[in-house]
Amino acid sequence: MVTGVSISCTAAPTTHRSTLGPSPGLVMIDPATDLPFFYGSISRSEAEQHLKLAGMSDGLFLLRQCLRSLGGYVLSLIWNLEFYHYPVEKQLNGTYCISGGKPHCGPAELCEFYSKDADGLVCTLRKPCLRPPEQPIKPGVFDSLRDNMLREYVRQTWNLEAEAMEQAIMSQAPQLEKLIATTAHEKMAWYHGKITRTEGERRLYSGSQPDGKFLVRERDESGTFALSVMYGKTAYHYRILHDKSGKYSMPEGTKFDTVWQLVEYLKMKPDGLVTLLREACMNQNCANQTPTVPSWRRPRGNGYTPPPEVPGACKIPTPLPAGRQALPMDSDEFVSPYADPKELQEKTLFIKREKLMVDEVELGSGNFGSVKKGVYKMKSKHIDVAIKVLKSENEKAVRDEMMREAEIMHQLDNPYIVRMIGLCQAEALMLVMEMAPAGPLNKFLSGKKDQVPVENVVELMHQVSLGMKYLEEKNFVHRDLAARNVLLVNQHYAKISDFGLSKALGADDNYYKARTLGKWPLKWYAPECINFHKFSSKGDVWSFGITMWEAFSYGGKPYKKMKGPEVISFIQSGSRMDNPAGCPDPMYELMKECWIYKYEERPSFVQVEEKMRTYYYSISKKASTDPKEQQEKPAA
Ligand code: ADP
Ligand code: MG
Repeated sequence: MVTGVSISCTAAPTTHRSTLGPSPGLVMIDPATDLPFFYGSISRSEAEQHLKLAGMSDGLFLLRQCLRSLGGYVLSLIWNLEFYHYPVEKQLNGTYCISGGKPHCGPAELCEFYSKDADGLVCTLRKPCLRPPEQPIKPGVFDSLRDNMLREYVRQTWNLEAEAMEQAIMSQAPQLEKLIATTAHEKMAWYHGKITRTEGERRLYSGSQPDGKFLVRERDESGTFALSVMYGKTAYHYRILHDKSGKYSMPEGTKFDTVWQLVEYLKMKPDGLVTLLREACMNQNCANQTPTVPSWRRPRGNGYTPPPEVPGACKIPTPLPAGRQALPMDSDEFVSPYADPKELQEKTLFIKREKLMVDEVELGSGNFGSVKKGVYKMKSKHIDVAIKVLKSENEKAVRDEMMREAEIMHQLDNPYIVRMIGLCQAEALMLVMEMAPAGPLNKFLSGKKDQVPVENVVELMHQVSLGMKYLEEKNFVHRDLAARNVLLVNQHYAKISDFGLSKALGADDNYYKARTLGKWPLKWYAPECINFHKFSSKGDVWSFGITMWEAFSYGGKPYKKMKGPEVISFIQSGSRMDNPAGCPDPMYELMKECWIYKYEERPSFVQVEEKMRTYYYSISKKASTDPKEQQEKPAA
């Protein structure tokens, strides 16, 4: 047992958080931050220094950030006056473990466990080596840059600002962090970009020439890197190896996920170099360097080549860097086509018929008519659209309904909601919308359990929760949220659609009272909607739970063959649908919260989105680590 100090429950003052830089609540805080024996990004020898000062007693230990694998730690422990260093790997499923040991859900739980059971360590953790109050957690090089880099990266890569930027970061933080981690070196003072070996030498020789002065440059071809370092007034050049799995290393040396981690490591261990890296040879251009926008994403709103004027012809997608999955921001549908000021000038609710090409291809149909594919010619670009065409023989009531739907959509602008482009009155009344080519979520997932991993479903449902949080904030109720009304732009990008039943709530109302019964989707409706015709965002939360169930059962039909009235008594009796096979427990727990009988006790979309996000980040923020290569051998 740990003597004196309990491990997991002893929270250090929260001021420590500030040492990791400003955090707007989006960027992840190191889960070990609150542990009083966590030192941050200190080196092995610094760790040994602290342990020496604390007395070298058996079982004395501390935790530090691992410099090699993103998200990993090293546990440094004393036994018999010797140091032992155990790498703690962050696993693909978000758990932490010491090589060969049991997985734990966090660093605190892991330390708690080893305080009771040595389970392969030289001894149990007995006494935490507490970080002195005057010593803040040492931020990793990456920690202090992370937040700014996220924003800069999103701004430059996708040309996003303000709200669109926040939405992009919130929905994709784990992927962005991984992307950025691999390009972070570009922001470092020691990175000189594409310069020749001779130019590298010239820069090293200019000014003072201390041992260990270094720079990293890009080699002429193939995008690989070289390290140039000064020793005994001579410049040495090393190729940085980049293996098939994407890891960087010196020949025969330790492998790292990123170039900047390798550099940080070489500052502490020569790993075959003539000297340790010490002083950065500063890239003079670094501070005001304007990093280039990657060629695979040109700025929005200019340089756009209109697609061929053939309805139905495919747009050629811009190629993404190899191995990278498409993010929502890669799609043109992430921001409104009117985000471009040139287009906004021309915006009108009713659009001209001659600018619209209606294809014969039918995307779907309903009692109003059909939804057709088309192209809308804007000033500087052509966009694919879906067109809801009202059947001409329809009576006025249906027409009014479509006008109301248009009126609602007109007021919404969010990446996770299908936007309306405009209305067109010609051979029929037409509601022109952004196109979501991969179609309804339930159909997309149906029969794809083997192809679409559950993490992908979590990602999509998190996006739906972001769209619903936006609706809740704007005081709209959807009233028809269901998997059939979640449309996909692609496998990693969902949008909420079908605002046919939606209502804008008055400023002082938090629910809409329906006076007449309609054709209602009862299986998706909360008790208060059915019993009292009261529709609020909390009612949408219930529907979100059903939509989650549909998604995690890969397009399953809720409540099997039960009829509406049977479902009502099933719910009334306190029963709820079972967990779909393979659905993660935290997701089923959230569904059940969405199905809390009393709406006052049900979570809001602010809370639902936060839970979706936390779970989504926890499963996708996995460091790509290979335990065999990453192992830091316990050193005696
Ligand atoms: P309804 O009120 O009849 O349910 P929806 O708005 O849900 O009407 O549209 C019906 C079908 O048309 C959808 O299920 C989908 O297949 C297709 N559809 C509607 N909007 C779009 C869109 N923006 N992009 C692609 N397909 C769409
Ligand atoms: Mg529909």
